[in-house]
Amino acid sequence: MTGAPLSIVIVGAGIAGCSAAIALTQAGHHVRVIERQDAWRFQSSGIFVYSNGLRALEDLGVLPDILTAGFAIPDGVNAYFDHHGVPIVETRYPTARGGRIPAILGIKRAELHRILSARMLALGVAVALGVEVTGLAQDAIKATVTTSTGAQLNADLVIGADGVRSWVRGQIAPAVTPRYTGFGVWRSVHRRPPGLTRKIMMMGPAKRYGIMPISDDLLYTFGTVAHPAGDYIRPDDWPTRMRAAFAEFAAPIAPFRDQIGADSEVLFTAVEDVVMPLPWHAGRVLLIGDAAHASTPFMGQGGAMAMQDAVILPRALHAAPDLPGALALFGDLRAPVCRFVQEASRAVGEAGGREDVTDLRARNAALARTAQGAVDGFYDKLNALNAVAEARLGALGA
Ligand SMILES: Cc1cc2nc3c(=O)[nH]c(=O)nc-3n(C[C@H](O)[C@H](O)[C@H](O)COP(=O)(O)OP(=O)(O)OC[C@H]3O[C@@H](n4cnc5c(N)ncnc54)[C@H](O)[C@@H]3O)c2cc1C
Repeated sequence: MTGAPLSIVIVGAGIAGCSAAIALTQAGHHVRVIERQDAWRFQSSGIFVYSNGLRALEDLGVLPDILTAGFAIPDGVNAYFDHHGVPIVETRYPTARGGRIPAILGIKRAELHRILSARMLALGVAVALGVEVTGLAQDAIKATVTTSTGAQLNADLVIGADGVRSWVRGQIAPAVTPRYTGFGVWRSVHRRPPGLTRKIMMMGPAKRYGIMPISDDLLYTFGTVAHPAGDYIRPDDWPTRMRAAFAEFAAPIAPFRDQIGADSEVLFTAVEDVVMPLPWHAGRVLLIGDAAHASTPFMGQGGAMAMQDAVILPRALHAAPDLPGALALFGDLRAPVCRFVQEASRAVGEAGGREDVTDLRARNAALARTAQGAVDGFYDKLNALNAVAEARLGALGA
């Protein structure tokens, strides 16, 4: 397919959709995006982007803006405390591209989307907001997306980047449904005291509660707890419930918890993941991002996986002789990486949920011994899997 520009419709303008629109347009394809939200209104709170995600953002041409809007943690330090505030251990995440790319950055989600959407629009991508996909058909020469405005968009390729509850996935793989993970995640945004520049993780009894700077003046806190399926919490109750969920935690996080009031930016998410076997495509329709491989958030990697999908896809299109070959190659390259992240993240969450809360001293001692090794082991394996994909693309001339 070398050099053949495709007409592509992307459904969903989240991290995956925006990133893919940028990468595919940079590679010369003609991209249109439809997004059901009628404005760029993205969830509050922050997001971590580790060095592998920052590398992808550099390839998308937005890294300088991301570094300006977000907050890179000096030395990539993650400081662990117990829930009484007693230090346990410090770990460091790896940098990338010879140390030029920071180990970890926090950024407000709305800022990440502002930067991605601005880049996409600057590249001339046609984006229709407030438009939902309502129909999908395909034949040997084209796919056709019908939208909520009644329009029919013909394309060589349709990409479902429509998130964990993907409508597009429902059309091509209806048996694959999100799994509830048993975890709830609480998040809140606060003013950042100038001296708070590290990522902090406090280890509670089968609970985690952390702090991440996300800009020069803001930080966000994030906390995970076991949460029974079907226990709906009304958004009005989120501030009170978040304070109660982490009542036993001391400084350094307690002052932020105690600031939470009715007007605070608080968000609760009952977490689902998606484990979809290959293929991630059917004919001319491909799934990327959470639609194909939503992960629990314990490794902070779901967004980075979506960005990496975006960067790899045009290279797979370039490398393979035809569209079916390219979409199969994309899945072969990405599935091992995404599966590894999903399994590692799920294991961390389950270990936290299972821990013996009567012996937190032993847990903390084990954490002090093993934490850096676990970080190194995770990133070594992630880098090795990415290197396998790179080698395969390199051998194919992409
Ligand atoms: C609690 C929590 C914390 C997390 N923290 C991190 C972190 O720190 N770092 C990290 O890298 N990842 C993190 N993640 C994961 C990350 O948020 C996701 O992997 C990422 O947002 C997925 O992006 P996406 O574009 O695939 O999906 P989404 O962000 O869900 O975007 C899908 C888009 O499609 C649109 N859409 C849906 N249906 C239709 C339709 N029918 N027609 C048109 N448009 C449609 C939606 O409106 C939306 O804009 C976290 C996830 C959770 C749940």
